[in-house]
Amino acid sequence: MSRIIGQEFTDALQEAHRMIPAPILARVAHAQYFCGSDPVSAGLEDETRFDLIPGETSRTWPHTLYGRHSTTVVAPRIVHPNPLWTVAMFVHELGHVLDEALDFEINLNPVTEYAMNNRREAFAESFMWWCFGQVWDHDAYALGFWERMSGQDIPAERH
Ligand SMILES: [Zn+2]
Repeated sequence: MSRIIGQEFTDALQEAHRMIPAPILARVAHAQYFCGSDPVSAGLEDETRFDLIPGETSRTWPHTLYGRHSTTVVAPRIVHPNPLWTVAMFVHELGHVLDEALDFEINLNPVTEYAMNNRREAFAESFMWWCFGQVWDHDAYALGFWERMSGQDIPAERH
């Protein structure tokens, strides 16, 4: 079930999708969205405090619920209660969805201070900044990984 309330979310999500290369977008197409209202009031989640961000909880902070719970597999859900930094946030959260789709097996170097929190944030931040055109000349592994993922390393056929 997806529920997106508010034009700012719809517009931002469309823009985020435009920034993501098609082969990657296909791998996160199963994501669902709950945007523009409080997931706790809606009965979807318990109130969780996010230890990485003081004062923020699941009622206020964008986050992704992974699809694999201990006993069930459901679609991952991107929850975005408030319209803050929406395009970048959607790309970041879709990075978490991609990370899960790849079984959390790819480790990438942190590219921001926030990315230094843990390997999952490192993956999502690397994805976000790469989508925003950041190029790390010193990090051939990350660049090569994103180029392979997006099909950019396949030489064009000449006729
Ligand atoms: Zn994150």
